[in-house]
Amino acid sequence: MKKINIAIDGPSAAGKSTIARRLAKKLGYVHLDTGAMYRCVAFKARKLGIDWMDEAALTKMIQQTLIELKTDGTVFLDQQDVSQVIRSNEISMGASCVSMHEQVRAALVQQQQKMAENKGVIMDGRDIGTVVLKDAELKIFLTASPEARAQRRCLENAEKGLESDVQKITEEIRKRDWQDTHREHSPLIRAEDAKEVDTSNLSIDEVTEVILDLVKDACCQ
Ligand code: C5P
Repeated sequence: MKKINIAIDGPSAAGKSTIARRLAKKLGYVHLDTGAMYRCVAFKARKLGIDWMDEAALTKMIQQTLIELKTDGTVFLDQQDVSQVIRSNEISMGASCVSMHEQVRAALVQQQQKMAENKGVIMDGRDIGTVVLKDAELKIFLTASPEARAQRRCLENAEKGLESDVQKITEEIRKRDWQDTHREHSPLIRAEDAKEVDTSNLSIDEVTEVILDLVKDACCQ
């Protein structure tokens, strides 16, 4: 089967990364989680005392920053493994803040486009089908209700032995959705040519199967 690029967009906690990772394994593709890059920017800025709203300082910082998305899913920031520490609620909100800035986005988008040059990439984020990989052969828009997404986050936390408040998580998800869909630059919207998959009532296996069928169709075109 010829290699294509696959763009997966959708709101937070819709299962994008989990699904993208599965698909990449099955297809022998590279998975790139672009949200991790915005998280790295927020994390490093916090460490250096740079305000998440200071676009100029953030942009300058990115020029002196090395973000590596490894094929095993780990994330390295300036050669340090930050895979876990960038997943906190605080850094989730921080990522949503730094991602509002046009210059920050431009710098990361440029890196992402370079990573996908050789095809065989599954990239997930918010603007992949609309900006980063406008010419991706397959575009998926993954959605799920805020309640379903919050339930999943709670289950994930429970598996890690962490307690969580479903009400609070639902509120955070709604807030992040609002921020991501209302920002001026590259807001989260479905690309016109994206196929929408609502995962609220589907298992991970079922979603993977649905998308694999779409991949087969896209590869044959
Ligand atoms: O996907 P994840 O939840 O890790 O992304 C964290 C934040 O990074 C999102 O809430 C969003 O604001 C931002 N983001 C973005 N564009 C992307 C990926 C993530 O703006 N392509």
